[in-house]
Amino acid sequence: MSLPHRHPVSDETRQRAHLDDAAYQRLYRQSVDDPQTFWGEQAKAFLDWFKAWDEVSSGSLSKGDIRWFAGGQLNISHNCIDRHLAKRGDQVALIWEGDDPKDSARITYKQLHEQVCRLANVLKTRGVKKGDRVCIYMPMIPEAAYAMLACTRIGAVHSVVFGGFSPDALRDRILDADCRTVITADEAVRGGKLVPLKSNVDKALASCPKVSTVLVVKRTGNPVDRDEKRDLWYHEAIQQVAADCPAEPMDAEDPLFILYTSGSTGKPKGVLHSTAGYLLQAAMTHKYVFDYHDGDIYWCTADVGWVTGHSYIVYGPLANGATSLIFEGVPNYPDTSRFWQVIDKHQVNIFYTAPTALRALMREGEAPVKKTSRSSLRLLGSVGEPINPEAWEWYFKVVGEQRCPIVDTWWQTETGAIMITPLPGATDLKPGSATRPFFGVQPVLLDEQGKEIDGPGAGVLAIKASWPSQIRSVYGDHKRMLETYFTAYPGYYFSGDGARRDEDGYWWITGRIDDVINVSGHRIGTAEVESALVLHDAVAEAAVVGYPHDVKGQGIYAFVTTMNGVEPSDELKKELLSLVGKEIGSFAKPELIQWAPGLPKTRSGKIMRRILRKIACNELDSLGDTSTLADPSVVDSLIEQRLNS
Ligand code: ATP
Ligand code: MG
Repeated sequence: MSLPHRHPVSDETRQRAHLDDAAYQRLYRQSVDDPQTFWGEQAKAFLDWFKAWDEVSSGSLSKGDIRWFAGGQLNISHNCIDRHLAKRGDQVALIWEGDDPKDSARITYKQLHEQVCRLANVLKTRGVKKGDRVCIYMPMIPEAAYAMLACTRIGAVHSVVFGGFSPDALRDRILDADCRTVITADEAVRGGKLVPLKSNVDKALASCPKVSTVLVVKRTGNPVDRDEKRDLWYHEAIQQVAADCPAEPMDAEDPLFILYTSGSTGKPKGVLHSTAGYLLQAAMTHKYVFDYHDGDIYWCTADVGWVTGHSYIVYGPLANGATSLIFEGVPNYPDTSRFWQVIDKHQVNIFYTAPTALRALMREGEAPVKKTSRSSLRLLGSVGEPINPEAWEWYFKVVGEQRCPIVDTWWQTETGAIMITPLPGATDLKPGSATRPFFGVQPVLLDEQGKEIDGPGAGVLAIKASWPSQIRSVYGDHKRMLETYFTAYPGYYFSGDGARRDEDGYWWITGRIDDVINVSGHRIGTAEVESALVLHDAVAEAAVVGYPHDVKGQGIYAFVTTMNGVEPSDELKKELLSLVGKEIGSFAKPELIQWAPGLPKTRSGKIMRRILRKIACNELDSLGDTSTLADPSVVDSLIEQRLNS
């Protein structure tokens, strides 16, 4: 691939940053050579403890019995709210930007405290106790964050289910986690459309007889069905309880939340996280990766239904006493300039989004971006999928006007917090590379025999030692956790992703291991071919998969979405093939190209290549688990095209 250039840290960024490269090197060394001292010091610096721990960490990856800060006691809600009250009670904790650009609100730490306490008291009056599971199925409104924090205040374990999920998907998750309480809203508002959350809950609960409380936030006020015994109006209930609620001391290893993975590679896993280690790494990465300083306005566009929303809208930022923006809407409503308008409106300094959103916005050209100022922006972030160098450059040049470093952060629901990432004041950037490991994270490349590869090379991305925010279990199925992450390569955490490490020790995520394509003995990651395809001006997005090929073993099948207004043509096909030949080599040229008006994505916006593989292989009646597919009609139209071709 043609060498992407390097963007060195600017003087301005370095001077402002908490950490420069020398500090990174020193702290990273310490974190790996003496993790007990390193994490002990960080846990004291970042968190407020009711009782000190006995041991920083214990257990082993191979046994899957990892514990961090055992014996210590703390409370998440206390750490995210109460301890800030003296110094920043009147500071804004949450900025809410509604779906309608006319709606917004600002919630101070003091107000957050009262709201969370009241809701915690409501949960208590309904019999919710430490360890009980509470399902949160909400729009992106401040009450979603209140609900999460109220659970943590009394030691209940939340399971947030993305508000875009269907009644069936909701039902499965309620049953899997055995939730007895559901917090929801009458309706959600997204992109000007109404989503009937309460009615979805009613449908789901038809098969969940154990649920005894449904707390309903009035978001739109449209009529909804009510079960007098089970359903409570949120606004009424919180008026009937006290405005204060003590924060329950929790053990460091007490379960904190359950969250289901996106389902890109198979049936979603109910990842269980525990208390202290999770919060520590969420807080620490939030401060250093986004170089958060007091007074900054920080916006992560994820939904709280995904881990990014957990760690980087709610827990990390609030643990640091930050101002975090919650956005109810979507990037293209009322128009495709919305993100940038919100940035101007609230003077956002730090902006964290996903490649899928960037690629969709790139499709619309530069004008919607250019008509806004974005002068408040200082730092940009990306998460969720590999960011193609082309999209990276667009983000850097058009959105950030070459002023803002981009932190491309690799991590997973299972890792709880960011694992591989640049630190803005320390790391020179290479478009498309997640660069270097965060403190305490020891990534390794493994070959097919499970042997570590030294120096530059490509292989399976695994992690060699435990980190504080790692997965503790798959809820209700500890064996599945051991089998999924700790069995294939004993002694390592297996990420399921492939990666390449270059001569500078920088990490490049090449895609999912399941998606690696083997053409005539060449192992090809999906990211590289896709990045080559999107280099073409006419291409907005691409996904490649392998299919059986008589001669080569596997051939490459590419699904390509063109830019708005570009008509696909045989001419364009030829150009794309020669582009891939030039960028990577002839062996990587797709055998077949199918024009795709849209690509199948999870509800969190990730391309589902396993479904595309089925289409490419003509295995149309065994698409697998499609419960997290965002828009089934996209798949139908690709199948129809395929059948007609
Ligand atoms: P499932 O595990 O159910 O298949 P999922 O892996 O998509 O779903 P998440 O935990 O939401 O669920 O996503 C984590 C994955 O997202 C990573 O394993 C990786 O493939 C991808 N990813 C996240 N951030 C990055 C990044 N910065 N660069 C490349 N890939 C990324
Ligand atoms: Mg995964």
